[in-house]
Parts: sequence; structure tokens; C-alpha cells
Amino acid sequence: MIGMYDVQKHFGDLHVLKDINLQVPSGQVVVVLGPSGSGKSTLCRTINRLEPIDSGRIEIDGVELPAEGKALARLRADVGMVFQSFNLFAHKTILDNVTLGPIKVKGMRKAEADKLGMQLLERVGIASQRDKLPAQLSGGQQQRVAIARALAMQPKVMLFDEPTSALDPEMVQEVLDVMTSLAKEGMTMLVVTHEMGFARRAADRVLFMSDGEIVEDAEPDAFFDNPQSNRAKDFLGKIL
Ligand code: ADP
Ligand code: MG
Repeated sequence: MIGMYDVQKHFGDLHVLKDINLQVPSGQVVVVLGPSGSGKSTLCRTINRLEPIDSGRIEIDGVELPAEGKALARLRADVGMVFQSFNLFAHKTILDNVTLGPIKVKGMRKAEADKLGMQLLERVGIASQRDKLPAQLSGGQQQRVAIARALAMQPKVMLFDEPTSALDPEMVQEVLDVMTSLAKEGMTMLVVTHEMGFARRAADRVLFMSDGEIVEDAEPDAFFDNPQSNRAKDFLGKIL
């Protein structure tokens, strides 16, 4: 579902992605771990072309992402993304936040978009908040709206970049629960997180990044119980 082939990316002199090769089959849940600055966010952002790459190839469901234009907008809709900061539209209601994409990008009629939006708000446990503004919701609720909004585009892949890092501790679990249920429903997911419990329970596969490279690629138990590289051992020693 996601294919990255020989992907290189620099920011000026900084080599942030060093020859990344990664294939994620449909339905797989991949957790990406690694120290700050290792290139995890950049990896996510290149997958839906928020960041251009220098060379290499990225495919979603077998189709190479075009560099720009209408075709890019269409294919980008296949890749939902949820960030640390929820980035909701502050002056739009919760329901409008969810329906805007389908109406504007996919040309869906309002009645249909509202129906879909309500289904998704139900799914993330927040339908009763439909007419509120984002600021009236807790951080955990806002992040669940952000997930519903991404799902409204009916993506083939969901990318999560530290979705719980900005939340108060008591709100982390409600967001992880939504992500876990998505994973169980078979969504293809790439999740950058520091939530090791989630990584162990929900991931099919753990990638460990360091200095722009994928240093380890293993099943969660194998990674946590028996990391191969000194860099991963060092990282786990600091966080566990
Ligand atoms: P991570 O998400 O693992 O913390 P990032 O992908 O955000 O790492 O960043 C990787 C490296 O690229 C860091 O050294 C960061 O400072 C640098 N970087 C990220 N975005 C930019 C940018 N837009 N311009 C220049 N350097 C950047
Ligand atoms: Mg990051």
C-alpha cells in the first residue's frame, strides 16, 4: 500500500532521509520510533508530498505520487494525516470540520457529507459535539475530530505524527483507543509515537530510525526484547 524506493531527501546540507526503502502491505500497522531529529516527521511528510523528495520513488497503492497538480491533490486524498497539533478550522463547527474536505475536494453533496461526517463522529465517540467549535472541546476530543476529518476523505493509508504528544496525560488513551480500533478494522497505518504500550500492542511492525536511516525493522516483541543495534539499545535505555 505504501512503497518507498531509494528515497533521498536533504534540507540544505543536512541529509535527512538516506536511501529509504520501505514497503508497507495493506492492513499493516507500522510504528516508527527514534530520537528527535532522526527524520520521522520528514518521512511522513514525504509520503503525501507535503515535502518533496530529491530522488527516488514513492507509491501509494501501486501508483506513483505525481510532483504536483490536480493528480497530486487526488492521490493525496488517499493518504490521511494526523498531526501533533490538531489543525482544526477554529471558526467552523466540529461537523463542518469533518465535511469540508469531502465537499471541496471530492465534490460530495452537503447532505451526503453530513451523513458521512456524523457516522465518523459516532465512530470516534464525539457525535454529540457536532455543533460546537473546536475550542469548546478538550484536546483529546479535538484530536478525535482530526482523525474523523482525515477518515472523511476515505483514505487508503493513515499517517499519524505524534498524535498524542500535545495532549494532557489523561486524554492520551481515548485517542490511542480510536487508533487501535482503526488498526483492528484493517486500516493501513504508519504511526510515529513515543507510546511504547501502543507500539507493543497495536503494531505489526516497528521501524527504528536514527540519523535519517531505518536502522531496525522488526516485530514489536523482537524489537523491544532484543534490539540489534547499539543506537536502538541506547534509545530504549533512555525511554523505558
Ligand atoms: P523527527 O520527526 O524525527 O524529530 P524531523 O523529520 O522533524 O525529525 O527532522 C529531521 C531533521 O531535519 C532535523 O535535524 C530537523 O531539524 C531537520 N528539518 C526538519 N524540517 C526542516 C525544514 N523544513 N528545514 C530545514 N531542516 C529541517
Ligand atoms: Mg517529528
